[in-house]
Amino acid sequence: MSSLVSFRRARGYAPLAWSEEGGELLARIHALALEKGPGHVAVFDLDGCLFDTRPRQVQIFRELGARAGFDPLFRVTVDHFTDWSLRTTLDNAGVHPDWIEANYVAVRSWWERHFFTSTYVLYDHAMPGAAALVRAVHDAGVHCVYLTGRDETMRPGTEDSLRRSGFPYDVARTTLLVKPDFRQDDTEFKEGAIEIVAAIGNVVLYLDNEPSNVNLFRRRHPESLVVFVETDHSPKPVEPDVEIPWLRSFLLGPV
Ligand SMILES: [Mg+2]
Repeated sequence: MSSLVSFRRARGYAPLAWSEEGGELLARIHALALEKGPGHVAVFDLDGCLFDTRPRQVQIFRELGARAGFDPLFRVTVDHFTDWSLRTTLDNAGVHPDWIEANYVAVRSWWERHFFTSTYVLYDHAMPGAAALVRAVHDAGVHCVYLTGRDETMRPGTEDSLRRSGFPYDVARTTLLVKPDFRQDDTEFKEGAIEIVAAIGNVVLYLDNEPSNVNLFRRRHPESLVVFVETDHSPKPVEPDVEIPWLRSFLLGPV
C-alpha cells in the first residue's frame, strides 16, 4: 500500500494554473528553440498536452444525455475529469452510484464510439498559451512534429483543429504523425516513430502527458529537454523519471 500512496501521479488539468516555476520552464523552452534553430526538432503530443480533451468528453456525455434521457450526464463539467476513469468522472459529478452501476456499460460504449473520432476532436480546445509556444518554437526555425496516439481516421479533424487554434501547420517544418492502426498501443507507436522523428533532425524538445512516453524519449534522447505535461494520463503504474520537469500551464504570466 505504501508504494501506492507515494506514487507520484499528475493532479489533473489546471490550464490556468500559472506558476513561477512553470514560467521559468517555458522561458527555458523559448531560449532552447532560439539557441538550436534550424536542423532541430521539437515533438509535441496532442491529447492532454497541447489540447484539452475535456470539452470533447462533456459534449459526448451531453449528446447521450439528450438522446437516451440520461439526464444525470448533464451534471458533468470539465472540472469533474481527474483521471481516465469514467466512473470517477461520474462520481465526481455527483451522479448516484446506483445510476452509474445501471448505466455504465451504455455510457462507456457511447464514449468509446465517439471519443476517438475526427468529428469530435473539434470540440477540444488548445491549452491556453500552447499555440503561442509552438509558434515561437517554429519561428525560431525548429521543425515542429505533432506526435499523437490519434489514428489515421482522426487526421482530418486533427488537422482542422490545429489550424483553427493557430498552431503552425500547412507550412514548412511541420509534421503530423498519427497511428496507422487504432489498436496499436500509444507508447509502442511512439517508440516506432522515434526513428522517423530522428530522420527529420536532432530532437531537442519533447512534451507529453504520458509518463511512459516522456521516459521513452528521455532515454532515447538524453541530451534533449523532455517535459512532462501535468494533466491526466493512463492508469499505467509508471511515473516520470525524476529528472523530468513538470509543466501544468502554458501561460507566460497569470491571467
Ligand atoms: Mg497525450
